[in-house]
Formats: sequence, C-alpha cells, structure tokens
Amino acid sequence: MALWDPRIEEMPQEDLRKMQYKLLKSLAYRLYSFSPFYHDRMKEQNVHPDDIRELADVKKLPFMFKRDLRDNYPDRIFTATQDELVRYHVSSGTTGKPTVVGYTQKDLDLWTTSLARGLTSIGLGRGDVIQVSYGYGLFTGGLGMHYGAERIGATVLPTSVGNTERQIELMQDLGATAIACTPSYLLHMGEVAEKMGMSIRKDTRLRTGILGAEPWTEKMRVRIEDWLGIKAYDIYGTSELSGPMFTECSEQNGFHVWSDLALVEIIDPKTEEPLEPGESGEVTITILQKEALPMIRYRIGDIAAMDDAVCACGRTNPRIHRIQGRVDDMLIIRGINVFPSQVEHALMAIPEVGQHFQIVVERKGALDDMLVRVELKKESFSDKITDLMKIRQNVEHRLRNSLNVNADVELVEPGSLPRFEGKSKKVIDKRSL
Ligand SMILES: [Zn+2]
Repeated sequence: MALWDPRIEEMPQEDLRKMQYKLLKSLAYRLYSFSPFYHDRMKEQNVHPDDIRELADVKKLPFMFKRDLRDNYPDRIFTATQDELVRYHVSSGTTGKPTVVGYTQKDLDLWTTSLARGLTSIGLGRGDVIQVSYGYGLFTGGLGMHYGAERIGATVLPTSVGNTERQIELMQDLGATAIACTPSYLLHMGEVAEKMGMSIRKDTRLRTGILGAEPWTEKMRVRIEDWLGIKAYDIYGTSELSGPMFTECSEQNGFHVWSDLALVEIIDPKTEEPLEPGESGEVTITILQKEALPMIRYRIGDIAAMDDAVCACGRTNPRIHRIQGRVDDMLIIRGINVFPSQVEHALMAIPEVGQHFQIVVERKGALDDMLVRVELKKESFSDKITDLMKIRQNVEHRLRNSLNVNADVELVEPGSLPRFEGKSKKVIDKRSL
C-alpha cells in the first residue's frame, strides 16, 4: 500500500505526540502574542502559554465556536494581512451571517497535502481520472478536492454540480475511475443513469467514491457499493478547518487525522470534559499550523468517537469514526434523543425500503409527533393495501425498537421525495417554524 508521506503517516505514536506538543505550544505563544482575539480569550480563561506543559494541557485552552467567526465577520480573527492571503472561501450560514475563511499559500499547501495523503491511502494516484462533482466556488468541496487530486498526479474532471446527464456521459466517455460528491448525489446519478438506459456498474470505469459533505451510514455504504459496483469512502472536514480534509483509508474504518496538522479531542458536549477513545462525544479540533485563520479547540458540533490504536493499514495517526450526528441536529422527541442517522440506519436494514426518507416533527397538543416518510423500492411498491400495511407495520416496529420512541410511517412511491444535489435536508422540524 502506497504512502504519500511515510515519515508522518508511520511515525511512532510517542513521537507524534511530542511533535503535537511542540506545535501546540508554539501556536499558543503565537496567538497570545499576535492575536487580540485569542489573547483576550486566554486572559478570560486565566491561561498563559507557559501553562501548556504537556499535550493534555490543551484542555486548559479556551474553546472556539462557529458563532465566534460570525461575530467577527468578515475577517477580524484573521492573523494574516490581506496581502498575505491567496484565497477566500465563504460558507453560507443557515442562520445569520456567513463565515469567511482566508488562506495563505502555506494554508493551501497543508490542506492539499492532507488530501494527497488521504487519496493515496485509498489507492488513487497517477492514471486515475477523478471526477469532482462537488460545487466549485465559495464552497470548499470542489476546489479542495481538485487540488488534492492534481497533487497526487491524477487527472481531474471538474464537473462541479448539476447537469447530471452530461456528468454521466463525461464519466463514461473520459473513463472516470473515481468520483467525489455527496452520497445523495451519487445515488441520484445512479438513478438518472438507469433512466438513460445505462448502468454505472457495467458501463463505466468508476470504482471509487469519495463521499462527504453530509452524514451517511454503513448500511448506505453497502447499498452504494453493491448497486454501483464501487468502493465508497467517507471524507470529513468543514470550511473552518480548511475544507474536506480527512478521508478514510483502505480499511474503511474511520478518518485518519494527520497529527502534524490537527489535534483531535472528543469531549462531552455538556460537561466539556475530555472523553476516552471509543466514547462518543463532540469532535473538537485544533488546527496546528494554520496561518490565516487559526483554530484552537474548535467545537465542530459533530458527534463521533475516536480510535487511537494503530490502524490495520499501518498508519499510526489516530482516526475519527463515522459521524453519528450533530449536537444541534439531535432531535428531542418526547424527551428522547433521536439522530436522523439512527432513523437511516434502521430503515436501510429493511429490504423493501429505498434510499430516500424524510422526517417531519410536529407538536400536536402537548406532545411531539414524529412522521417518517419512506420511499419504497420500485419492486416493493404494490397496489395491494394489505401488502403495504404489512411493510408499514414492520417499518414502525423497527423504528420503535431502535429509537425507543413511536413514529408514524407513511410509505410513498419511489421517486416522490425531493432530491438534493448538495446537502440533503432530511428533517423538517415544524416545532421551530
Ligand atoms: Zn488506516
């Protein structure tokens, strides 16, 4: 198995931690001295860079949240001047102001290096044609993946999003071997290809999917792989960290987080205390070498567990396991925590169920009411009411077992729920409207 950067990827874990400690300490000094924002934050927290005496002392440093970026719109937290910046990306805010991320040339290089390591770890390189069907522009997905793919010597097919039929034609004509997009968009492409009378499995060279920008499950992976005849790998990141940064390796068992670039903590979102490897909590990341927009203990809001054991692929750098949900996506239904990913997990285990569903939450009287709309597979959709009743009861039963809360189920025809080319919106919470 090829390695992009063996020195870091296979470095003994003790040495990785020593390196991280040095980088953390110098980051803390730099920000204390040169960033009014971080200087004030550290003062408020009553911590001085001298107090960082070992790696675990990271927990003495203040947290950072997305709202800090919004409150300091557009660039008041930046620690590079405009003439040192070579690029901006802007993420659309679902609430309030967008957030702006600036990059120096070194920031872009490190981001690209991170992706080069990841793409190499799933066996891509020279000779591959990588179709980038993430949006190009202010969103980080398209350009980020583009530079990573070029760095490893692959040929980039920069289709961006939209015009799906043309994307499929180009995939076939130019022999794309890999595609980077959201999992829901790849499923959509699979459906469109079938409507065009062709099959991605049989009629293209596609064998790798690098799928991210929205949460998805293991069951979804099995479906995508079986249906399209590819290997599907998860990728993780967010614009505040630079963009998509960390991919799974050939083991498909968590994202390797490169220790020279990022320090990961998993914390209890309520008590803010660090959790042990294997325990699920909020992903908190310190980007160790960023110049323009440093991030100390950034609370991403994703829920996952970490694994610090040496991976079966031989890489020593720790992994974050599959994202289980968002701290703020967590629905509280009649006092019980429900993640959309749990609903997906339960549904994908039912053979009659298709790939698309939608959760609608309402308040009826004093009680929360959850409705799950479920698309059936074409072959399972029947005119017989009794058949449908049976499937519906089974779906309700499975959901109740895995969520510990009752959900009403509505079965709908294949193709009737809305499709999304970017991030899919699976939850409509009418309680907050
Ligand atoms: Zn690995």
